[in-house]
Amino acid sequence: MSLLELEDVNAFYGNSHVIFDVDMTVEQNEVVALLGRNGAGKTTTLRAITGTVPRREGRIDFRGESIVNDTVDTISKKGIKLVPEERRIFPTLTVQENLVVAHDSSSGDPRPVEEMYEIFSVLDDLRENRGRNLSGGEQQMLSVARALVQDPDLLLLDEPTEGLAPVIVEDLTEILEDIVSRDVTVVITEQNVDFALSLSERAYIIESGENAWEGTIEQLRDRDDLLEQYLSVGAAAD
Ligand code: ATP
Repeated sequence: MSLLELEDVNAFYGNSHVIFDVDMTVEQNEVVALLGRNGAGKTTTLRAITGTVPRREGRIDFRGESIVNDTVDTISKKGIKLVPEERRIFPTLTVQENLVVAHDSSSGDPRPVEEMYEIFSVLDDLRENRGRNLSGGEQQMLSVARALVQDPDLLLLDEPTEGLAPVIVEDLTEILEDIVSRDVTVVITEQNVDFALSLSERAYIIESGENAWEGTIEQLRDRDDLLEQYLSVGAAAD
């Protein structure tokens, strides 16, 4: 049994049908990249999983049980956490307070706040700084740390590198490698293909709300045609 299975999933905003019969499977402890151009439907696919899209249909099973009729709250309690593109932190609270609030509101068995400072060492020196005074990269780290402290079974990261300087992207890559080694399953949406390829084992490409390709990262590396056709990049770097 896979951790997460999507079959023939459709999603709608009002009358606007934006995801069409999407299939996706995520195994325990896997890192899966969901790739595609701006507006291809990556975020909406993640929202279909978390139940935050206004209407979704199809089969969405988590640990072999349907979650397609569950509320957002129930899905979160079952261990699926989304780190949205717009970083979700409390601007007036300090780094420490942001982590403690996330830790204390966990419905499961959260990880220790101190473990987050081991993983996100940049946050260790910023414990008393307020969220609003952090840089974009630091806010992104805090945003991921707030999800991770709740010890999710499935972590959904929506374009974590968006707007970050290359040197911060490198830091984030190392941190995510560390997280993955701690038995967390991750789905990551990205336009930064190099970043996604460096972390993931398998990828799905979405185009106009439909599955366009799926395969291993090894297979994708050799497919400059796909990267050009669906992701508007010339080639994948090593
Ligand atoms: P991006 O990189 O811009 O986030 P994406 O691949 O995540 O792109 P989505 O945000 O899922 O794409 O958007 C898929 C389609 O759904 C787009 O055509 C978009 O315009 C539309 N869409 C997204 N959000 C809404 C909304 N709240 N109401 C109506 N249409 C929406």
